[in-house]
Amino acid sequence: MITRIDHLGIAVKSLDETIPYYEKALGLKCEHREEVPSQKVRTAFFHAGEVHIELLEPTSPESPIAKFLEKNPSGGIHHIAFATSDIGGQLKQAAGAGVKLIHEQPFEGAADKLVAFLHPKSTFGVLTEFCMPKGK
Ligand code: ZN
Repeated sequence: MITRIDHLGIAVKSLDETIPYYEKALGLKCEHREEVPSQKVRTAFFHAGEVHIELLEPTSPESPIAKFLEKNPSGGIHHIAFATSDIGGQLKQAAGAGVKLIHEQPFEGAADKLVAFLHPKSTFGVLTEFCMPKGK
């Protein structure tokens, strides 16, 4: 079951150039920075109430975020992530409804979570992530 929106993923060219905007202009606090080698990104997380903002900076030209930035040079909203209590069941439900999955199996994402993505061609243009805390 989807319990809430966990975070919005935002593609940026540079975390160091972007973080001051979120901190100084919006007054949010950067709570966590982490590199996710499997996705070739560096991330920074902010709390905005219940929802997090996940900034994503590519660490390689092959990163999915680098490809997004080629199409959207100023950056922008990259994905929406729903927290779920059962990521496997959630993927099964989506696949059963005819949605193309990018990941058949959840994998380890940032912030100690299992994550998996649905293909934006099946989700009306919105890259959609499911996430669930590890060890649940
Ligand atoms: Zn995400």
